[in-house]
Amino acid sequence: MPATGLLLLVDLDGVLYRGASPVPGVAEVLAGRARAGDDIVYVTNNSMWYRAEYVDRIAGMGAPVTADRIVSSPRATALYLVDHAPSVSHVLTVGASGLDRELEDAGFRVTRAGDAAEHIRGGGVEGTDGGNGWDAAGRPDAVVVGLDPKFDYLRLTVATDCVRAGARFVATNRDPVYPTERAVRPGAGAIVAAVEAASGITATSIGKPEPYLLEEAARTVGREPAEAVMIGDNLGTDVGAAVAVGARSVLMLTGVTTRADAESAPVEHRPTAIAADAAELARVLEALGRPARPT
Ligand SMILES: [Mg+2]
Repeated sequence: MPATGLLLLVDLDGVLYRGASPVPGVAEVLAGRARAGDDIVYVTNNSMWYRAEYVDRIAGMGAPVTADRIVSSPRATALYLVDHAPSVSHVLTVGASGLDRELEDAGFRVTRAGDAAEHIRGGGVEGTDGGNGWDAAGRPDAVVVGLDPKFDYLRLTVATDCVRAGARFVATNRDPVYPTERAVRPGAGAIVAAVEAASGITATSIGKPEPYLLEEAARTVGREPAEAVMIGDNLGTDVGAAVAVGARSVLMLTGVTTRADAESAPVEHRPTAIAADAAELARVLEALGRPARPT
């Protein structure tokens, strides 16, 4: 037996559930792995929710979970700023309430772009040009952009003014679209692209396929990201992030990727293993968890 179990970094939508419906059997597989000693951390690019909001849903499906085992892109962004940007204390957010709460939990003072925009609209700052968005926002040290369902021109103006004034520019993720049960909607990446286009400055993006989300997720349980097995349904983001941190990966065919997609990917971007369903996931993890035979 290895000294410690596997570190499983588990994507949510397309792996544990699809929209409101659980993917059959996956929660049970994870519960069994946790009982056998694996560390399980859930990792999602979704930037809208506070981590506690996932707990009931995941637990209700029978999967092992506590709030500290959920590293969403807003949670990872907050942890990233704590670890990598010690001079940042005041953050302007373009996003939903989950993003604000994660940053506040990590000790940041948060100004919402919507509030700064209201301040401008109400005449609190003269004019709407000349970098007044930065003053309206209280001159923040950083701008964090996620998916903001109320995004508008004035919020774009505020965020752009702050970035142009020198605030550090961080994106929760670059997913161009956000699939809902009823339709495909513009994702955080579309809003990030708007601020990049207007400011001429490129954001640091925290979510998958960049390495930071998986790095922060591994750190929450005191382990190295290269030890992880990333379980995800998206070849570009999930497998891409695993490759970026040197981790192994299992591509689930229960979400957005087909076997043909996976097999036609360049060899360095292919997953370590592919699992069509929960039963195959269980077999694959069993094989990956076995200590390598000495040669
Ligand atoms: Mg997914």
